[in-house]
Amino acid sequence: MGDWFQTIVDTEATPEEAQGLAASILDWLIADGFVSAERTDCVLGADAGHAPGAHYGEAVEDPDPELINVWSNGLHVTVGRTVFDAGQGEPSAVTCPHCAAETPLVDEYWSLIEEGWARFRDAVGSWAEGEDEPVACPSCGRTAPVHTWLWADDHFAFGHLGFTFWNWPGLRPEFVAEFSRRLGGHRTVLLGGKL
Ligand SMILES: [Zn+2]
Repeated sequence: MGDWFQTIVDTEATPEEAQGLAASILDWLIADGFVSAERTDCVLGADAGHAPGAHYGEAVEDPDPELINVWSNGLHVTVGRTVFDAGQGEPSAVTCPHCAAETPLVDEYWSLIEEGWARFRDAVGSWAEGEDEPVACPSCGRTAPVHTWLWADDHFAFGHLGFTFWNWPGLRPEFVAEFSRRLGGHRTVLLGGKL
């Protein structure tokens, strides 16, 4: 059985404000008992995170009493320029921010269409390093930075701040909306995947 994660990405936080926003969200999550204050070894892909708190069940649709026994059950906060991705599987399609034309990236068997993906691969791969490579739309010919394209199923989200919950049941929409409110109304993307 793989590990499942959900990441709430703030797609609008600037590099300068990300750290402060991360701290204020964490304060709220700890104060309301969603996560515990101490940092422990409970997340994948990072040294430490925050295990579920006494009231974690209020954040999810269907609380699982077994979560507490899962080793990787914590919250990891990512601060810094990151391409958040949904883990397994291929991006299915991407939509041009200018003309709204959709470019399919997988065929009927869910295999990646090489010539479609080739247009985006380098730009997606280099964004985290600080590049803003423009990608030309196959329909209208105009270019747009890769992070402004709209990825089907939120396969990728580009941002400087993300909150990853490991193996939590589905997050309640109200809980996710509260993030956006506390992040100053920033647009958030909820991305889910498996490792
Ligand atoms: Zn276009």
